[in-house]
Amino acid sequence: MKLILLGAPGAGKGTQAKLISDYYAIPHISTGDIFRSNIKSGTELGKKAKAFIDAGALVPDELTVDLVLDALSAPECMGGCILDGFPRTIAQAEALDAAMKAASDAIDCCIDIEVPDEVIIERMSGRRVCPSCGASYHTVNVPPKTEGICDSCSAALVIRKDDEPGTVKARLDTYHEQTQPLIGYYTAQGKNIVIDGMHSPEEVFSEIKEKLG
Ligand code: AMP
Repeated sequence: MKLILLGAPGAGKGTQAKLISDYYAIPHISTGDIFRSNIKSGTELGKKAKAFIDAGALVPDELTVDLVLDALSAPECMGGCILDGFPRTIAQAEALDAAMKAASDAIDCCIDIEVPDEVIIERMSGRRVCPSCGASYHTVNVPPKTEGICDSCSAALVIRKDDEPGTVKARLDTYHEQTQPLIGYYTAQGKNIVIDGMHSPEEVFSEIKEKLG
């Protein structure tokens, strides 16, 4: 099963991708996580990507597409995978379709998690992440056991630079302009399923399982 997760930043893609990856036993490929780990380890890719990410813009397609196609060609992805945060532009979707077609393969389904902008802004202002293990929390909805401290590895939680209020607005604009058109792209292929992201993570996941059949 080859799946794509679509949705505005903060719609819950990362949380659902982990649940889907565990339940269906397929690898989780997150372009955001790949970029963040490259930034952390100071690679050339990380250096190039950082300025775009910090500004709430997309990393250019030429730095992104090959990275994902490489990851997808790994043997562990043969049986399926969940793509979280890719594609984010029509050009990326077309490149993905072309690569899949060349391998006599295809995306099965695009899962579009819908959450209104006002809720996204509220969610992202409370998001805290662990800089050490990557775990994600929310000051109100998913608080850590001890305020400001990661439950898993005890590191001090931080606000992602791109979750700062000015950047959130830029990320939402980027989403509406460049990524939302993908809903039409996958609907035209009969592959888009719409999920209401306004419920608890467990309820959202139940709806995904039900609609995937
Ligand atoms: P995410 O964690 O998925 O919200 O991604 C964080 C940031 O990484 C995004 O705001 C973009 O700047 C960048 N990014 C992630 N995936 C892509 C992609 N498919 N194309 C371009 N930029 C991306």
